[in-house]
Amino acid sequence: MLDFDTIAAISTPMGEGAIAIVRLSGDEAFTIANAIFKSPGNKNLLDVPSHTIHYGHIVDPKTDETIEEVMMSVMKGPRTFTREDIVEINCHGGIVSVNRVLQLVLANGARLAEPGEFTKRAFLNGRIDLSQAEAVMDLIRAKTDKAMNVAINQMEGRLSNLIRKLRQEILETLAHVEVNIDYPEYDDVEEMTHSILIEKATKVRDEIAQLLQTSQQGKILREGLATVIVGRPNVGKSSLLNSLVQDTKAIVTDIPGTTRDVIEEYVNVRGVPLRLVDTAGIRETEDIVERIGVERSRQYLKEADLILLVLNFHDDFTEEDERLFEAVKGMDYIVIVNKTDLPQKINLEKVTELAEGHPVVTTSLLREEGIDQLEEAIAALFFEGSVESQDLTYVSNTRHIALLTQAQSSIDEAISGIESGIPIDIVQIDLTRTWELLGEVIGESVHESLIDQLFSQFCLGK
Ligand code: GDP
Ligand code: ZN
Repeated sequence: MLDFDTIAAISTPMGEGAIAIVRLSGDEAFTIANAIFKSPGNKNLLDVPSHTIHYGHIVDPKTDETIEEVMMSVMKGPRTFTREDIVEINCHGGIVSVNRVLQLVLANGARLAEPGEFTKRAFLNGRIDLSQAEAVMDLIRAKTDKAMNVAINQMEGRLSNLIRKLRQEILETLAHVEVNIDYPEYDDVEEMTHSILIEKATKVRDEIAQLLQTSQQGKILREGLATVIVGRPNVGKSSLLNSLVQDTKAIVTDIPGTTRDVIEEYVNVRGVPLRLVDTAGIRETEDIVERIGVERSRQYLKEADLILLVLNFHDDFTEEDERLFEAVKGMDYIVIVNKTDLPQKINLEKVTELAEGHPVVTTSLLREEGIDQLEEAIAALFFEGSVESQDLTYVSNTRHIALLTQAQSSIDEAISGIESGIPIDIVQIDLTRTWELLGEVIGESVHESLIDQLFSQFCLGK
């Protein structure tokens, strides 16, 4: 194990929940915790069995002041998340007393953890690989159960196992190349090698391609389906937004960001996280075009994964409506004809025709009717009617997608190289490159600064 100092941080979200945890990790974790802990039976935390919990009080050893009533979880490495000794101080008080506990821990020899440092240690101590570490980060930020499942699968090492298997296959393929280089005089060997090479390389290629195919869905589960609501003034855009937010509970997000001129609101529609864009525009000025200008709103339309186009059931279909249909042509959209509680004026046949097969849902947001059908249409669009396979290993991480794309093109080059009969040692270079790129996904052969950068994205205390 590597030699680290003892770090500490509050490892529960600020201000949320009744219990807050101060977590310590490192060689001195037990000693530091013991110095500030008083239990009814005067327990010594250095002597208690591993993975046990102890009731007591946090007391400032300098002033004898009691600071907090706590439960201490004592976990001896290496059977811990970081593989180091870990103490978790479960505090019941509010944020003020939790902070005081943390200050006391720091005053007694711990160092404040950097963001992501616990996970980084787990990685550096060999407890998890890089793709698993990234999954921890995704898990913290997961917005729906499905997104969480993706992260959990990845954390459990499914992606890593698949990547390892592919790397193994490439190594075997490289072994065949070696044979060819070592015994070029044997025609037989070359013949055989040639076809085996193509077969093996193609198999790896196909598996990479298959993984990449999941990336669109995986990315959406992770980042949310960028959704924009458009429609003429007064058709019910704000009402739609409000009913989606109410019906599904808005998802609170802690993604550090990119301050934009629009607010993004997350809602969970049957496991599909929608990232509702431009909600500020809809709420405050009724008109995103008015608020951020025609050009900008076009841009948002272009970046959208899903458009909710709202029409008025109780109004004629206007030229402006028609222009909206033109603007969303070629994109994924759902038409919502709202205000069915009022007498019909709109020509629904015309709407259906213009929608060209895209779903058309009628609603009365006033009476809360049709929202189920709308949610169904959204979920169906995302899962494309296919039963979602629990076993699917999704790739959702942008870094992984980039690496896999590169790996795919380098193995493509290897394959076309073999086919066109270029010198085998050049094929070998492409195969080795593929092997390296796959290794980067799981953190083998990654550059140290990349590691620092990745872990600094984590929330504090993770
Ligand atoms: P926006 O301008 O497109 O954002 O439309 P709003 O959501 O602000 O709604 C405009 C008006 O239509 C408000 O007075 C709403 O209460 C009303 N409204 C929204 N949905 C319905 C509906 O289904 N039926 C009726 N009768 N009125 C609705
Ligand atoms: Zn409105």
